[in-house]
Amino acid sequence: MKLVLLGPPGAGKGTQASNIVKKYQIPHISTGDIFRKNIKENTELGLKAKEYMDKGLLVPDDIVVAIVKDRLIQDDCKKGFLLDGFPRTDAQAKALDTELQNLEFNLDYVINIEVDKDALINRAIGRRICKECGATYHVEFNPPSATEICDECGNELYQRKDDTEATVKTRIEVYLEQTKPLIDYYNKQNILVNINGLQDIDKVFSDITDVLGSEK
Ligand code: ADP
Ligand code: AMP
Repeated sequence: MKLVLLGPPGAGKGTQASNIVKKYQIPHISTGDIFRKNIKENTELGLKAKEYMDKGLLVPDDIVVAIVKDRLIQDDCKKGFLLDGFPRTDAQAKALDTELQNLEFNLDYVINIEVDKDALINRAIGRRICKECGATYHVEFNPPSATEICDECGNELYQRKDDTEATVKTRIEVYLEQTKPLIDYYNKQNILVNINGLQDIDKVFSDITDVLGSEK
């Protein structure tokens, strides 16, 4: 199963991704997670990406595309993968198409999670993430059993630096301008599936699995 998850910031891509990769046993490739890991480890890539991420802007295409290309040639991607947060621009989508052709891969579906702007801001501001395992929570909609502690691994939760109201608004503007046009791009390829992301987390997941089916 070769999949892309599309949707505005805070739509629930990461949340659904963790369920999808568990069920279909495919690697989860989140460009945002890759950058956050590099920031945590103080790498050169992390330092570069941070300049853009803290402002809510996109990291330049050449940097992101190189990372994804490197990842897709790994052996574990042969059986499938889930791209989360990539592509985000027309140039990234075209570069992905070229790379998929080189690898003789076809995307099965592009799952577009639809959520309106007001809900996005609330979701992002209330988001909390585990410092260790990256599990995602929401203070109101998906709280951990113990305040600020991860249910999965017992470590502390944190709030992303780019989850402030001002930065989320910028990220939504960037999405509308640069990423939303990809809905049409993939619709034309007949692989786009729209999912109502305003439903609760389990219902969104069951709508996705209705489309993907039970096969791995
Ligand atoms: P994205 O990866 O698209 O930015 P996340 O999966 O991190 O989004 O979700 C953003 C926030 O919204 C998180 O705090 C998450 O717990 C919460 N969330 C995700 N899906 C839903 C949903 N269907 N209903 C309510 N809150 C949700
Ligand atoms: P995310 O974790 O998907 O919300 O991404 C967080 C931030 O990482 C974004 O606001 C961008 O600054 C950067 N980023 C993640 N993926 C991409 C991408 N495909 N292209 C450019 N920047 C990205």
